[in-house]
Amino acid sequence: MTTIAKKQILSTLLMKVLINKIMDSTTSKCGLFLHPTQADFSIDDDNALFISQLQNIGLIAKQLTQEENTFYTGKRYLDFIAYMGCSPAIQFEASDSCEDFCHIKIHFYNTKQLIVSPVQSRAPHCPRCNKPVKNWLDNKAEATITCTLCNNSSDLGEFDWRKMAGYARVFIEITDIFPKEAIPQQILLDELNKACKTEWSYFYSCN
Ligand SMILES: [Zn+2]
Repeated sequence: MTTIAKKQILSTLLMKVLINKIMDSTTSKCGLFLHPTQADFSIDDDNALFISQLQNIGLIAKQLTQEENTFYTGKRYLDFIAYMGCSPAIQFEASDSCEDFCHIKIHFYNTKQLIVSPVQSRAPHCPRCNKPVKNWLDNKAEATITCTLCNNSSDLGEFDWRKMAGYARVFIEITDIFPKEAIPQQILLDELNKACKTEWSYFYSCN
């Protein structure tokens, strides 16, 4: 094959990758999720107390009228969540032209849930051998995964999900944030640790 033909194939491939990237960024919706690192931590059936704690620290404001456990961002939101790059135009309220705006949903579950980003997901790393377990879905039981690289079974919560999944009973979802576009600050994690007396972590999910 001539060099020119090779160059043409390469540039066609590159164009395809670029088009896919543009399609991804315009079609997928992403969010930032915060959750307790201890997977079985629960709010002890006092969801209202937890919500008022989040309102008191200024992460969330009043509830959106049409959706349960869904809130406007609070007055300290931008102290807690740092947006990368040049100051983005973040929309905090719905308008006639745009109903997608940054708001916060709290998810409470009776049992532990594994939330894995349907798009851009990454292979979880085994806690024993540290290697990515690419075939994890084929080797997943209800609460464990068997790593075929080292033959150990470990709890879902012990795997390193590379910030694209989380395992917990409580999640705080912040809508309209692409992976790494905004990062929760230590001050927020500290406030959550204090309110719940347990450590918190975060990940991104896109669909
Ligand atoms: Zn392993």
